[in-house]
Amino acid sequence: MDLLDLKDAAKQIALDSGAILVGVGSRDRLVDAPPSGDMNYSLPGAQSCIIWAYPIPAETLDHYLGKTERLSYRNNMHFAYSTGWKSAATVAQFIEKNTKYKAYPVMPNIDYRGTGFAFRQRLRVGRFFLRRGLATKLIAKIIARTFGEKVFPMFSLRYGAVAAGLGRLGWSGNLFVKDYGSAVYLAGALTTAPLEPDPLADENYCNKCKTCVQACPTGLFSLDEEEAPVTIAGREEIYAKRNAYARCYFGCGGLAGVGPGGSWSTWTPDHDCLKEVAEEQMNDPAYRAKLLQDMLSSNATPVVQREFNKTILIQYMNGGILGNIGKRTLEDTHPTCGACQAVCVADPKQRKKLLALLKSAGKMNLDEEGKEYIERPDGTTFYPPTEV
Ligand code: SF4
Ligand code: SF4
Repeated sequence: MDLLDLKDAAKQIALDSGAILVGVGSRDRLVDAPPSGDMNYSLPGAQSCIIWAYPIPAETLDHYLGKTERLSYRNNMHFAYSTGWKSAATVAQFIEKNTKYKAYPVMPNIDYRGTGFAFRQRLRVGRFFLRRGLATKLIAKIIARTFGEKVFPMFSLRYGAVAAGLGRLGWSGNLFVKDYGSAVYLAGALTTAPLEPDPLADENYCNKCKTCVQACPTGLFSLDEEEAPVTIAGREEIYAKRNAYARCYFGCGGLAGVGPGGSWSTWTPDHDCLKEVAEEQMNDPAYRAKLLQDMLSSNATPVVQREFNKTILIQYMNGGILGNIGKRTLEDTHPTCGACQAVCVADPKQRKKLLALLKSAGKMNLDEEGKEYIERPDGTTFYPPTEV
């Protein structure tokens, strides 16, 4: 099989799995990228990355942000990660079976550099205690320390996607695809085959509307400060300066998610707003440990909420222990935030509508039995379907 046929066949596998976009990038294009753009780390001698994207349907975003239901968002997330992983493995197997080249399926998420056995053991210990309801000070301290760590993927699918011509980096740092915005999930494979790279995306369609900044309840992104640019294929990708990563660990982890002013939230029952917490505090391990301990074991936190927090942490730990979100079960898939990505659709007007929807949909809460309900701003309550 020649390289042209190989490229076509690999791309077709991705498209057949439900991807809406697929492209090929080269090692040369990533030579000036940060370390997680280095293909060699995962596959010595890698020359090409094949990257593809699965969309989040528009109705799913409406339901998720408007808090009418999140089952469709959850199912779509599980589909994208598990299918992305399986099709990456299929692409890699296809290449190795039909050519002399090596290939490597990239795990879609939760596969970080340097997080080997010791990291997983730490998660196992944490999970052991949480499962037994023993959310002690020490456990909170260990988890809070993890929340302060900056982790880097084995291979950055976002950088790979830019190199493969799928899009450019938006202000949020998520990939921005011309026709889908950031509302996509990525998957990919590396290979030593020197495939012809596809054309790069022509321009960056992120218009710096900063809707993503407003949708983030924890304040991860700066409104106007930039990170050092990322260079891919000789072009600079500019995105927002990150505040303490712990903000997103708490927010995307479902432990905190109320927006400024307290009238709206993501899918979490915690009603603290981390955006209003000073950066100095978020960077302080002792503050984070106290915050976490309060969430897990303080009498001031309702019992049902403590149970929710423990459950969701265990689900995240299960994913971390697997080391591959593509293998996570549907039961352990529990999206609560991702708002920066969900509001960022291609059409700027629709972005504003989605942000308004998020901010007018009210707050999630838990009743005495631990069942999720939504407190609408007009004082009414609504129980969304939450069963699989
Ligand atoms: S929400 Fe706006 S600023 Fe943020 S990434 Fe999307 S287009 Fe860019
Ligand atoms: S996932 Fe949520 S908490 Fe994390 S950066 Fe995006 S909006 Fe903020």
